[in-house]
Amino acid sequence: MSYVDEIYAKVVEQNPGEAEFHQAVKEVLDSLKLVIDANEDKYRKMALLERLVEPERIISFRVPWVDDNGQVQVNKGYRVQFNSAIGPYKGGLRLHPSVNQGILKFLGFEQVFKNSLTGLPIGGGKGGSNFDPKGKSDREVMAFCQSFMTELSKYIGADQDVPAGDIGVGAREIGFLYGQYKRLTGLYEGVLTGKGLNYGGSLVRTQATGYGLVYILDEMLKNNGKELAGKTVVVSGSGNVAIYATEKAQQLGAKVVALSDSNGYIYDADGIKLDVVKEIKEVRRGRIKEYTASVPSAVYTEGKGIWTIKCDIALPCATQNELNLDDAKALKANGCFAVAEGANMPSTREATDFFLENNMLFMPGKAANAGGVATSALEMSQNSQRLSWSFDEVDAKLKDIMVNIFAKANDAAKRYGVAGNYVAGANIAGFEKVVDAMMAQGIV
Ligand code: NDP
Repeated sequence: MSYVDEIYAKVVEQNPGEAEFHQAVKEVLDSLKLVIDANEDKYRKMALLERLVEPERIISFRVPWVDDNGQVQVNKGYRVQFNSAIGPYKGGLRLHPSVNQGILKFLGFEQVFKNSLTGLPIGGGKGGSNFDPKGKSDREVMAFCQSFMTELSKYIGADQDVPAGDIGVGAREIGFLYGQYKRLTGLYEGVLTGKGLNYGGSLVRTQATGYGLVYILDEMLKNNGKELAGKTVVVSGSGNVAIYATEKAQQLGAKVVALSDSNGYIYDADGIKLDVVKEIKEVRRGRIKEYTASVPSAVYTEGKGIWTIKCDIALPCATQNELNLDDAKALKANGCFAVAEGANMPSTREATDFFLENNMLFMPGKAANAGGVATSALEMSQNSQRLSWSFDEVDAKLKDIMVNIFAKANDAAKRYGVAGNYVAGANIAGFEKVVDAMMAQGIV
């Protein structure tokens, strides 16, 4: 058995019930096979893969808080500190009922390679809780965040581990978490990113993941003799990533015709009116079906099915495994030629393979959504320098980073004889930097 296959078998055996983690490891190891096989003896002796797939540390804790009826509630809290070879752990916090250790391990593992691709000095981590912020009052969310941070604060710090937002964690939650950290430690430091602009946040951080996704999409299209202007785009989700991907795609001349949430999707043949979506999602915290009240010509459909809408380009921006093989086939049959992932691992392995086998342009989340964490790292730089850069300055840096990520993935794919396979390219390029650092730092 090859070293890669042996390690994958061990991961499955030693991490039972963690399907998403197995899936993420398999995808990465499959693309790294060429690189590993060429250095098998050296890597095996150093147990490099064994160390790469095992988090440096997982912190798991209880989060008790009191709801508005005076009832005590208890949630599970986690922080997975996956790999710090190239910098302090960096990665978001997710608050969603589906959160468990396996999902956070998959996200933390992906984060290691993503952060490496940005070219910035940040290691990989991820955290969160099975707390569901939906339907909770502001006071309940604050009570939860304060309790969560009371425990988490023991393990994080501006030079140690710097969490950020993810699903269910936006400006409100980051504010509550930051306030509690400061109160407990007395430190006014860049321990979280995604902060408000008047207390250390960076311009463009809110837009960064969505904007970055469209910057790299644009670069991929140009490199393949195509352009974004005039194309029809379907975006799934209607949260932070989806909204700002839509905004940038529209600015660059594309027409976005659909958005969704976990209940259903809207189709607006005339192009999504983003001000209506922002009002529903960012101000009222409502459901996407409310869009039709403001735009009666749009159609709302309950349930899944967004990928059956005819489009040139698909941008999955909701959650993991939201796009399966049937969806991939439907997209192709309707003329879709490019897919870029705003969410983390939104395409199943079968869907990803289908895109690659059918020569569709496909940019995996690890590269495509790295703009969020890259801008978080720019927020850390500004905090360390006690400076604030202008919107245009940060946006220009973000664009540069995304163009560079494309170049790295493109170049690595070519070097290993799989030109155009940006999944392999991104995995290999991300891996090379982390592994060089791990080898240099000895057995730790
Ligand atoms: P938000 O919480 O702002 O939005 C998530 C969106 O996805 C909502 O519309 C939500 O609908 C929908 N959604 C969530 N779970 C499901 C589900 N099980 N089925 C269908 N729809 C679902 O999160 P973000 O926009 O921040 O994150 C979206 C994705 O992008 C995630 O995979 C995240 O890890 C990834 N990402 C985010 C980054 C960031 O900077 N925010 C950075 C890099 C990656 P509903 O409201 O109904 O739950």
